[in-house]
Amino acid sequence: MSRLLEVTGLRARYGKIDALHGVDFHVERGEIVTLIGANGAGKTTTLMAISRARPPDGPRVKAGDIRHQGQSILGLAPEKVVSELNMALTPTGRRIFGNLTVGENLSLATYARRDDKAGIKRDYQRVYDLFPRLAERRRQRSESLSGGEQQMLAVGRALMSRCSFLLLDEPSMGLAPLLVQDMFRALQALNREGMTILLVEQNAKLALKFAHRGYVLSTGEIVASGPCAQLMDDPEVKKAYLGG
Ligand code: ATP
Repeated sequence: MSRLLEVTGLRARYGKIDALHGVDFHVERGEIVTLIGANGAGKTTTLMAISRARPPDGPRVKAGDIRHQGQSILGLAPEKVVSELNMALTPTGRRIFGNLTVGENLSLATYARRDDKAGIKRDYQRVYDLFPRLAERRRQRSESLSGGEQQMLAVGRALMSRCSFLLLDEPSMGLAPLLVQDMFRALQALNREGMTILLVEQNAKLALKFAHRGYVLSTGEIVASGPCAQLMDDPEVKKAYLGG
């Protein structure tokens, strides 16, 4: 069977600046795979290329391919990536609507499945069970949430859109340690229910503990890969990313 996601020889650039120099990796259905690396290594660029998110100053794919179940998705519009491939990106910066309430933000994410009333109701409950803080704040305007709560809302929105493949960009960013634990516990629960996760993290220790397999990205290239236990024991990885 074809791999859920396969990235081969991916090159991407911003204007004249190369950010990815031929990146290869894959994700199987049901896996948690992490991409780790220092600032500027190309992690976010990789996620943006996959999700086809194209902000005006976003990266352009120059070479290589991104296949989903064997089919190239390079020609797909971003909204098709979410609706047809069941893939959702929760970006750094979170893209929630600050002037809407938590509940309204979740509701917007169900637009594509608005006829599935019973399913939507169950999913609200699921999000609020996973993130009780969101339940307490469901009528609160989203701009007044803390950074961590906004991060939870971003993941909640991905769930409401019924995605089965979550691309996460630094879900631990800005979270207090207790909230990081809550977040990763919730993500683990989702993975046990079958959600595939591609996780980009600067916190390599945390990411390698959480994921099944990992890839280390350094200035636009994959420099190490393998099961997380193996990467955690790799002297180079330890020295460069795990604080010795
Ligand atoms: P971080 O952990 O700091 O978020 P990252 O691994 O996600 O880093 P990217 O954001 O993918 O790194 O950046 C990869 C390279 O592309 C960097 O050299 C960065 O300066 C460059 N870059 C990123 N965004 C832009 C942009 N909009 N215009 C020009 N160059 C960019």
